[in-house]
Amino acid sequence: LVPMATTEGCLVASTNRGCKAIHLSGGASSVLLKDGMTRAPVVRFATAKRAAYLKMYLEDPLNFESLSLVFNKSSRFAKLQSVKCSIAGKNLYLRFCCSTGDAMGMNMVSKGVQNVLDFLQNDFSDMDVIGISGNFCSDKKPAAVNWIEGRGKSVVCEAIIKGEVVKKVLKTSVESLVELNMLKNLTGSAMAGALGGFNAHASNIVSAVYIATGQDPAQNIESSHCITMMEAVNDGLDLHVSVTMPSIEVGTVGGGTQLASQAACLNLLGVKGASKETPGANARLLATIVAGSVLAGELSLMSALAAGQLVKSHMKYN
Ligand code: ADP
Repeated sequence: LVPMATTEGCLVASTNRGCKAIHLSGGASSVLLKDGMTRAPVVRFATAKRAAYLKMYLEDPLNFESLSLVFNKSSRFAKLQSVKCSIAGKNLYLRFCCSTGDAMGMNMVSKGVQNVLDFLQNDFSDMDVIGISGNFCSDKKPAAVNWIEGRGKSVVCEAIIKGEVVKKVLKTSVESLVELNMLKNLTGSAMAGALGGFNAHASNIVSAVYIATGQDPAQNIESSHCITMMEAVNDGLDLHVSVTMPSIEVGTVGGGTQLASQAACLNLLGVKGASKETPGANARLLATIVAGSVLAGELSLMSALAAGQLVKSHMKYN
């Protein structure tokens, strides 16, 4: 059971159909590729040379240990992973990335960044902190940095859907799905100049699951970045389908996860609160559930489109 809160007609029925197709084919599996929340302040110097000097200092592996010591004081769950800097003239954008246990982590990473900025002020007293967020993070805006580098949890999820299930449950064929995916999700999105939007409707499922489980729904922007791939396998009989989502931002502690209904939904999934055994395991599992649900949503909507049933089903079930 995956809880969804939505006003989108047919969404629950459609995702449910995708889940049924996955279930009848033996399930889906996910791999979590990366787990790190980011925050990027913008600081200014009098010259580009000084800004470049701080960039080199922050990116020098020899300084990583002392920076982590300062950063990680923000929480016992915060672990600095990397600092990547980008320069615009004499302004410097410092993208800090850290693991945050079971929290989505924006508060935690911001506190760690504040610690480092205070620490840097000792040796870089000419550094002017313009803003603790300089948009290179990048939170709640479409941005290539999240699509390429990832933000939050990066997950790939796959399933092999049996040909007979494609026919009986999804009412279409492997061949039609593969062709539609190529022309719509890949070529069509390329024609539109898409950024992370190489999918049919990942954001429908992401938003619905986020609202139900107390996530920040505004983060659906980058959390919905997704490329959906479809390929015929087993001599063209079955369908290999996958979703790759680099920026799923979820937590099972903090924020809206404590509200009664949302906490109940997290309980239903068995991921409520802090994981006792492995900090972060609940949030990571939730991210894979989001990806699995998106996989189901993609399968069902793509099938409705391939079979030409989208308008009919909306008229019937809305
Ligand atoms: P966010 O950083 O996502 O905005 P909050 O600051 O609201 O989250 O919540 C994180 C808080 O929860 C921190 O104070 C942290 O110490 C506490 N916490 C307790 N257990 C955990 C855990 N397993 N993982 C992460 N944070 C935890």
